[in-house]
Amino acid sequence: MTTLKAKDYRSGIEPVWCTGCGDFGVLKGLTQALSDLEIVPERLAVISGIGCSSRLPGYTKSYAFNSIHGRALPIATGLKLARPDITTIVVGGDGDGFSIGLGHLPHAIRRNPDLTYAVLDNGIYGLTKGQASPTTEVDFKQERGLAGPDERPLNPVLLVLSSGCGYVARTHAGNLPHLRETLREAIRYSGFAFVHVLAGCVTYQTPSYAEQIYQRCDLLPADYDPTDLIRAMEVARGPRFQLGVIFRRDPGVAPRMGEMEGQAEGGVWPPVTQPLGQEPPSDVEFPGG
Ligand code: SF4
Repeated sequence: MTTLKAKDYRSGIEPVWCTGCGDFGVLKGLTQALSDLEIVPERLAVISGIGCSSRLPGYTKSYAFNSIHGRALPIATGLKLARPDITTIVVGGDGDGFSIGLGHLPHAIRRNPDLTYAVLDNGIYGLTKGQASPTTEVDFKQERGLAGPDERPLNPVLLVLSSGCGYVARTHAGNLPHLRETLREAIRYSGFAFVHVLAGCVTYQTPSYAEQIYQRCDLLPADYDPTDLIRAMEVARGPRFQLGVIFRRDPGVAPRMGEMEGQAEGGVWPPVTQPLGQEPPSDVEFPGG
């Protein structure tokens, strides 16, 4: 098989993101990671909700679903349940994932499907023209006169750690080699992997804000132990954005969705294994159906 290059994972649709948007970096890093892993587009799905970053599936050569606001995780979970052989990546923004879609996150984590969820966090609602999102900093809201000026921002990494997520990493859209490696290792992880991607919005943030976020980033030290949950929580609560694998649980410790005892024999939900685009077999009975 000829190894595909990063450009081979582009769909041919030109992104409509603003020039300089951090989402370009994520598209590039993701396609590089897919090339590294030699995942063929026929065995790949990229799923999103709504928002600027949620346009990303349209720009990748894969099965893709730019779905409804905040619902990417349940859709991807259903896909993974039906087609465990498809590498499934979920992308979206901080508004989509931590506001309307937040209720789905801890449930996806506890079900532990083999998904990679990358949240492109720019701390703003870009698509709807600059409202405060759940991760917008207090100072920025007060300076801009945005709604909720006294509401503290949500801490995504602390949230997923406390929900029991087995793989938690953070990277920055402006650090392409780090982004590529982080996404590659998250996709490799066998279970639910969360990647917090700091990504700038050049239109509704300011260059000084983006610079301030970048200056708050450090790489985790070489001797950092990602199996130490207490240490990971300290990192999450710290004032700086530490980049790298913050927490990694042995994937053998927690069962993955679809692989619990009895399920493989069809006891809970039989996997649907027909090729995409064909009618499901008539003898499959779904719960409640
Ligand atoms: Fe990117 Fe912001 Fe433009 Fe949206 S509005 S495409 S997040 S720069």
